[in-house]
Amino acid sequence: MKRIYLDYAATTPTHPDVVKAMLPYFSDSFGNPSSIYACGQEAKEAIEGARASVAALIGAHEDEIAFTSGGTEADNAALKGVAYANSDKGNHIITSAIEHHAILETGHYLETQGFQVTILPVDKDGMVDSDDVRRAITDKTIIVSIMNANNEIGTIQPIVEIARVTRDAGVYLHTDAVQTVGHIPLDVDELGVDLLSMSAHKLYGPKGVGVLYTRKSTKLVSFMHGGEQEFGRRAGTHNVPGIVGLGKAAQIAQQEMDEEAERVTRLRDKLINGVLENIDHARLNGHPQTRLPNNVNLSISYAEGEAMCLNLDREGICCSTGSACSSAATEPSHVLQALGLDPLQAHSSLRFSLGKWTTEEEIDRVLDVLPRIVSKLRAMSPLLKSHH
Ligand code: PLP
Repeated sequence: MKRIYLDYAATTPTHPDVVKAMLPYFSDSFGNPSSIYACGQEAKEAIEGARASVAALIGAHEDEIAFTSGGTEADNAALKGVAYANSDKGNHIITSAIEHHAILETGHYLETQGFQVTILPVDKDGMVDSDDVRRAITDKTIIVSIMNANNEIGTIQPIVEIARVTRDAGVYLHTDAVQTVGHIPLDVDELGVDLLSMSAHKLYGPKGVGVLYTRKSTKLVSFMHGGEQEFGRRAGTHNVPGIVGLGKAAQIAQQEMDEEAERVTRLRDKLINGVLENIDHARLNGHPQTRLPNNVNLSISYAEGEAMCLNLDREGICCSTGSACSSAATEPSHVLQALGLDPLQAHSSLRFSLGKWTTEEEIDRVLDVLPRIVSKLRAMSPLLKSHH
C-alpha cells in the first residue's frame, strides 16, 4: 500500500537536494568552524553561505541570524533572552492562548522567576485582536510574542497590526514563524518584528536545526553559556551539516514557494470542500481565508479524532489530531479549546497538512476513504443515536 503523508506541519521529509548538500560536511569538510586551518574554514564558509541564504529568505541582515537547535530553542532564547536582558525595565510578557508549548511553557517557567505573563484570547477563527494587545500593554511590558501562523488550525495572525502597537509602546515583538517561513512570503521589516523563530524541519530541511532572528537594536542575553559562537548569542559547536541543510532548504523555498503555495492551496480547498460537502456535521476550524496554504483542520462530530486517525493510518494515510506534540495527551488541544469548541467538536478534530509531494490523487483517495470511516465510526457511536 502506498503511504499518503498528510502531516507536513508535524515535520517534512528532507528534500533530496538538501541531503546532497549536507553529505560532504559529515566526513569530508568535517572540521570545527572555529578552527583556523583549512578544513575548519571550509565548514565556516559553508555556515556563512547558509546564513546568507536564510537572511535573504526573510529579508534580514546576516548578523541578525543565529543558528539554534530548532524552533523550541529559538522560542526559549527569544523569551528568556529578552526577559533577562530587560528585567530592569519591566517584568511583563504578553502572548496568546494558541501559542506552541515552546512559548507557553517558557512563559510558565518565567512566571516562577518573577515575570508576569498575560495570555490573550483569540476569536472563534483563532485570530488575536491587536486592540487586545494594546489594552494589555502596561509600563512594565517588555515583550509581546504572537505566532505568525498556528500549527494546528493554520490561522495567520495580523502581525503587521500588532507590530504597530508594540512599536508605539516601545515593546519588543517576537513571532514564532516556524509554520510560515518557506511556505508564505515573509519579510522581517514588512512584518515589523524584532525577533523571529524558525525551524528547518518544517521547510524540507533536517530536524534539530533552526534560527532565531534578532533585530540589531534588540537587547538580548544568551541563555546558553559557553563559547563565543553565533555573535555570543548561542554557544556551542555548530551543527554544520544541519545548518548547511537549512541554507539549502531556504534557497529552494525562495525559488519554489510562490508556485508551491498556489498548488497546495488548490488541493487544500478541494479537500476542505470535499469533506464539508460529503460528511454531515463537519466544520472547518481556523480562519476560512486567512490560513496557511497547506492547513486543513476539521471537526467531524460523533466520530472520535483518534479513531479516525487510526482508521486512516490503516489505509496508509498519515494525519494528526490536533498537534503532533500532544499526541500522548487525551485532553483536547489547548488551541481548539481556545476557539471555544465544545468538547464533542474538540475531540472529533483531524488535521491534514499538505506539502511538496502531495498529489491530487492523494486528496481524491482521502475523500474516498474518510466518509466511509466516519460512517463506520458513527454507526457505533452512542452520541449520534442520542442526538437523533
Ligand atoms: N513552534 C511551532 C509553531 C511549531 O509548530 C513547532 C513544531 O512543531 C515548534 C515551535 C517547535 O519547533 P522544533 O520542532 O524545531 O523544536
